[in-house]
Amino acid sequence: MTIAKKHIFSLILILILAIGAISIANAYTGTGFSHNIPSSKYYDMSASDILSQYPDTECHVEESAVCTQVVDGDTIYLDNGKKIRFVGVNTPERGVEGYIASKNFVQKLCLNKKVGIDIDDRKHNDKYGRTLAVVIVDGKNVNEMLLKEGLAEIMYMPPSEFYPYNWAGSNTHVADTHSPSSSSSNSYSSDTSSSSSSGSGSYVANANTGKFHVASCGSVSKMSEKNKVFLSSRDEAINQGYEPCKRCNP
Ligand SMILES: [Zn+2]
Repeated sequence: MTIAKKHIFSLILILILAIGAISIANAYTGTGFSHNIPSSKYYDMSASDILSQYPDTECHVEESAVCTQVVDGDTIYLDNGKKIRFVGVNTPERGVEGYIASKNFVQKLCLNKKVGIDIDDRKHNDKYGRTLAVVIVDGKNVNEMLLKEGLAEIMYMPPSEFYPYNWAGSNTHVADTHSPSSSSSNSYSSDTSSSSSSGSGSYVANANTGKFHVASCGSVSKMSEKNKVFLSSRDEAINQGYEPCKRCNP
C-alpha cells in the first residue's frame, strides 16, 4: 500500500513538472537573444527612410491607436489601453546586448504615432495579458522589419495565425526555445580544458542554470564542476542558448 502511494506521489510530481515545462516553453519570454547592431545605425534615418525599404503588408489593420510607450523592441503600449506583444518575434531583454538598438528602432517607427494592429486570431493574448499582434505602420509590418533587420529573432509559438518564417531575411535568427543541454556536442568538460592556456576571452556556462559568465565571475568558483561548460567566445555561448549573467555582464 505504501509503495502504491509512493508511486502516485511520484506520478503527480512528474505531471506537475511536465505542465511547468510546457508552460515555460509556450511563454512569450526572452531566450537570451542578443545582437550587436549599433543603435547609431538608425540615427540619421527618418521613419519614412526605413519604411520606404519595405513592401506593403498583407496583414489587415483591425484596430488603430496611438503608441504611448515603447517598453522594448517587442512590446508597446497604446492609448486604447492595450499592451501589445509583437507576435512571432523576440528582441533582446533589458541589460542584454542589442536591447537599446531594437527599442530605438521601434520608438522611431511607432512612438506617439497612430499604429495599426492585426491581432492573432488563433491566440489573442500571452500569459501576461498582452495582446499578440502584428504592428502596422504606414501599411508596413514592423514585426517583419525587426526580423529582416536582424533586430529580433523568430519566436514561433503555435497556435498562431502568423508564420514568422515567412518574414525572415538573411539576418534573421531563430529562437532556440530548448534549454541548453549539458551533453551538448560543442561543450567539453573541465578535465580537457588544460589545452586552453590563454585565459582571455574565456567564458564558463552553467549547464544547470543556463547562464554563462566571464571566467573570473564569483559564480564560477561556486559552480559544481559537473555543471561547468567551457566556451571560447560570447557568440559560442549565445549560439548554444546560454543567457548572460546579470552580475558579470559577459
Ligand atoms: Zn557571472
